[in-house]
Amino acid sequence: MKKRIYLSSPHLGGEEIEYVKEAFDSNWVAPLGPHVEAFERECAAFAGVRHAHALSSGTAAAFLAALLLNVKRGDIFFCSSLTFAATLAPLVQIGATPVLIDSEPESWNMSPQALERAFKDAENTGEMPRAVVIVNLYGQACDMDRILPLCGRYGVPVIEDAAESVGSTYRNRQTGSFGRFAFYSFNGNKIITTSGGGMLLSDDGEAIDRARFLSAQARDRAPWYQHSELGYNFRMSNVLAGIGRAQLKLLPRRVAERRAVFERYRAALASSPGVSFMPEPEWSASNRWLTAMTVDPAASGTANMKIIEALAAENIESRPVWKPMHMQPVFEGVKYYRHGEDDFSRMTFENGLCLPSGSNLTPEDQELVIDVVRKQLG
Ligand SMILES: *Cc1c(COP(=O)(O)O)cnc(C)c1O
Repeated sequence: MKKRIYLSSPHLGGEEIEYVKEAFDSNWVAPLGPHVEAFERECAAFAGVRHAHALSSGTAAAFLAALLLNVKRGDIFFCSSLTFAATLAPLVQIGATPVLIDSEPESWNMSPQALERAFKDAENTGEMPRAVVIVNLYGQACDMDRILPLCGRYGVPVIEDAAESVGSTYRNRQTGSFGRFAFYSFNGNKIITTSGGGMLLSDDGEAIDRARFLSAQARDRAPWYQHSELGYNFRMSNVLAGIGRAQLKLLPRRVAERRAVFERYRAALASSPGVSFMPEPEWSASNRWLTAMTVDPAASGTANMKIIEALAAENIESRPVWKPMHMQPVFEGVKYYRHGEDDFSRMTFENGLCLPSGSNLTPEDQELVIDVVRKQLG
């Protein structure tokens, strides 16, 4: 069997073990401790927000963001359709109903014009959403200057899913700083990792204090265990926060490396008929977490799934683009706003794929990937 080439695997720098050792030596092997506090400070400073709260996953952060915005059973919320299910699962599990919004071709993210139509309809029916959940897909920021004023005009707060865009900027400002609440993911497949973890980000100190209370079992101030309400166990371990601190220092390098991977793919494949790469608008600097492309079957003579199968035969992992939420069995019948005539996120799913994009992908391995894709493109 040939060596496996992964889509996106953890990339350690070496210093992680020093931080972990420090946690062991000081016996801070607990879901609190000096690494957690430092990692929170360092992430807040990096993102350019006042407060950060380290958690066991990005999904836990999304869940807390929903609670902090008082998302309740029976509410509706707007959410980008072209994303991973964890973006909206916590809100749905609370009992809220999504209204799904298509993406625009310029950024592959929430279409401002579809969002505007959704808001107009909501205004007419008197069913305003409790929140708008935006996603920075594959590291690419949304068009914030068009989306945020629209949400502001209707007085609806924004949750920014920056799970995939750690280190990406919009007009030179870090993603994760745009939503009332935003979150990063440090899952093993993301650009930096703690093996599993997440970070809730906000300028709202009171809200983050409440998140701390809820994520640590909601204990009242009392000498015994007393609860006026019930909480969750969502905290990040001090050992993992140590890994995160070392990884965060490497982030600028990791962004440069992933962008270089993207550029090599583009240089090798972009001139093939029917091939297009996920664009990068002038206002964006994407971390290029994953290199995403589309293949037009008519012009290319092949199809995304054929390329994925050909890569799999060489033990190379690749994936279709996220299957949009409005096409998921679990969201059958849910309201959906298209960008225009075309269902852009459906087309992107049907023709799209993500190539191995890790910052530890060697140029030789990337050449293998390129060869297989080229052969399929004829
Ligand atoms: C990874 C991811 C999440 C979830 O983060 P976890 O840390 O794995 O819980 C949420 N949204 C998007 C878009 C993601 O890619």
